[in-house]
Amino acid sequence: MTDPTTLTIDEARTLLDGRELSARQLTEAFLARIAETQDAFNAFITVTPEQALEQADAADAKIAAGDAGPLCGIPIGVKDIILTRGVRTTAASHILESFVAPYDANVVDCLRAADAVIVGKLNCDEFAMGSSNENSAFGATRNPWNADCVPGGSSGGSAAAVAARQCIASLGTDTGGSIRQPAAFCGVTGLKPTYGRVSRYGVIAFASSLDQVGPMAQSARDAAHLLSVIAAHDDRDSTSVDRETPNYAAALDGEVAGLRIGLPREYFTGGIDPQVQQAVRAAASQLEKLGATVDEVSLPHTEYAIATYYLIATAEASSNLARYDGTRYGLRTGEQDGLLDMYRQTRAKGFGSEVKRRIMLGTHALSAGYYDAYYLKAQKVRTLIRSDFEAVFLDHDLILAPTTPTPAFRVGEKSDDPLQMYLNDIFTISVNLAGLPGLSLPCGISDTGLPIGFQLIGKPFDETTVLRAGDAYQRATDWHRKHPPEPEAK
Ligand code: GLN
Repeated sequence: MTDPTTLTIDEARTLLDGRELSARQLTEAFLARIAETQDAFNAFITVTPEQALEQADAADAKIAAGDAGPLCGIPIGVKDIILTRGVRTTAASHILESFVAPYDANVVDCLRAADAVIVGKLNCDEFAMGSSNENSAFGATRNPWNADCVPGGSSGGSAAAVAARQCIASLGTDTGGSIRQPAAFCGVTGLKPTYGRVSRYGVIAFASSLDQVGPMAQSARDAAHLLSVIAAHDDRDSTSVDRETPNYAAALDGEVAGLRIGLPREYFTGGIDPQVQQAVRAAASQLEKLGATVDEVSLPHTEYAIATYYLIATAEASSNLARYDGTRYGLRTGEQDGLLDMYRQTRAKGFGSEVKRRIMLGTHALSAGYYDAYYLKAQKVRTLIRSDFEAVFLDHDLILAPTTPTPAFRVGEKSDDPLQMYLNDIFTISVNLAGLPGLSLPCGISDTGLPIGFQLIGKPFDETTVLRAGDAYQRATDWHRKHPPEPEAK
């Protein structure tokens, strides 16, 4: 039989339902794979073998009883910024190092209700702030395609774990590209849903007007399976919309004939690596060959996106992270000389340098006298960026663009230069500012052996078209089927 860690969700579900493979065997195969490769990539912060095997046995019982949920027995990894009851959730920060949540996030409730198996909590940048995973208090995750390179961030563990076959699929979060950029760097498929599509209840907040949870998987089809499970209305997140959840996978009919796809001129200039440019244009030609029409469009305010994002995201972060003060949960340190001193010492010790930088930037942007000049102005520019997309979507169904300007960079290459790190987000953040769905898919491999990704951006709540086009592309190509070389034996 084929190695169970190479199976897609459909393939695994067929074998499980046919009783050719048990959920326990499947979970054991992934746990063994994690044990073998965790040292090489550091994708997990916490592995939960006992719970996973218990869930696998429960899944086997459900299958035997003919009562299997849609993800029954499927091993999934969860970004460690998503709360899991009884298992620590760290946000990759010292300040939450030993925090055990008393409840599950809504997306975890959904996974459990679908009978999925949760194999562990995945590494990320601290509080999801970063583009390389180097900001984790638990050490950087490495890129399975080349361990000298970053896996991207902030959901680098979620991408690396899928690429390294440590779980069939995973959940990540995307505030400014954190699902799509690591998906591109690790050669996996990652979807940021529309703002409001997935509940953030129980997801540690970074920038609340931008954060969204989404699937990372081996294909658009697998991502569709996960999205159908996690996109459920939830009163506990006031931004969660009350709209029917389509059966996304059922809509994948391979048809793109007549779809109108726009290529934004502003995303194909400047610092883009020629190999990325070429691979992304080839992906557009492939979709054209399949019957879509492709033409050039313009998103004229693109150049302001980074400045806008890094004002809004830091302002919201400074307010969201005020709760980590040593009082109610998480770290409390030192000999304290009064309340203020406790705050000061706890925060100085608990937060890493990028998180501190963002809190300071955000607090400044919101402070009296600067609010109008920075935060308010950024909100106005955000409206212009959103209007650019609305104008294109008047006569287009999708926008196709590179996910990142370059393939994965080397560990340490940008970590001393925050501006260079922020510039890497140029193609992903506008989608968050506009609240749109974006899917990153693999479309090539560079001559240095690193994956290249492109993204399909859709109208609000039109994940169906995004996934349908992504799936059609993957039916015609096999970039998503490529696996990284095996890590060298220890
Ligand atoms: N890289 C971006 C940042 O550092 C995006 C992070 C994210 O989407 N969580 O803010």
